[in-house]
Amino acid sequence: MTPEEKLAHRRRSDKRRQVARDRGRPSNVHPHEFEEAKARIAYLHYQCGMSVEAMGRQVGFDRSTPGKVLHHSKTMHRTTYDRIMRLVYEPPVDTLDVQQLGGQVPLQPTQRRLQALIAAGYHLKYVAEETGCHAKGHLSRIANGKHDWVYSATALRISALYTKLIDVDPVDVGLTPTEILRSQRRAQRQGYAPASCWDDDTINDLDAIPEWTGACGTAEGYRIHKREYIPACKPCCAARRAHERNLYAARYSSAVDRPGGMQGDAIEPVL
Ligand SMILES: [Zn+2]
Repeated sequence: MTPEEKLAHRRRSDKRRQVARDRGRPSNVHPHEFEEAKARIAYLHYQCGMSVEAMGRQVGFDRSTPGKVLHHSKTMHRTTYDRIMRLVYEPPVDTLDVQQLGGQVPLQPTQRRLQALIAAGYHLKYVAEETGCHAKGHLSRIANGKHDWVYSATALRISALYTKLIDVDPVDVGLTPTEILRSQRRAQRQGYAPASCWDDDTINDLDAIPEWTGACGTAEGYRIHKREYIPACKPCCAARRAHERNLYAARYSSAVDRPGGMQGDAIEPVL
């Protein structure tokens, strides 16, 4: 391209942009539209687990585009915006090809379902066979929280199995009483929450805690654990420690404030 041609090309582009701006649809989107498109990608990728490959395939942009929008760009061309807003959720392809397994979604919902299945008496070998997630060790790492995320395909398979089996007696699918007891003991040892600790809203909520007592995460919850002989959950233990610290501080300050101060006034530790 000669310098004259370049100049003519730039003038044509400038003219096009000017016309687009005058019509109220500039070629680069407004900041609020950019944020809208960014939120759409973040939702589809991080919450629904749609892979960037699937997005690119569906509306015809490069697989690097979502990453650029999420982490680097400040604006985008209107055609990119229109494509992003046309995206619809597409579940991962059921395959062993890692590129097709969907995006990486948070671990917790899958971990909770897996732990509840174990607590119900389903062992991991059975879950691995039923879900096609062949590596039993991989499932064990998910149950023990050794990963930060799972592929959305794995999350969907385990979620489907959970829905199918959680109200079914493991005996009815052919597991032996010994196998069932072994899984249940494992769940007790590891403190896995059974399905009764969750409901449909909380099991997917990353900030939720398993509800063993109806008051978990409070000192009252700790007392209910003790009364009902349920091993105390972590939030209840933390709440009890915080409660004790507060009590101790309150006794300390009242002892200091009393006439005569703390002399001869030993503070008893709260047990
Ligand atoms: Zn608790």
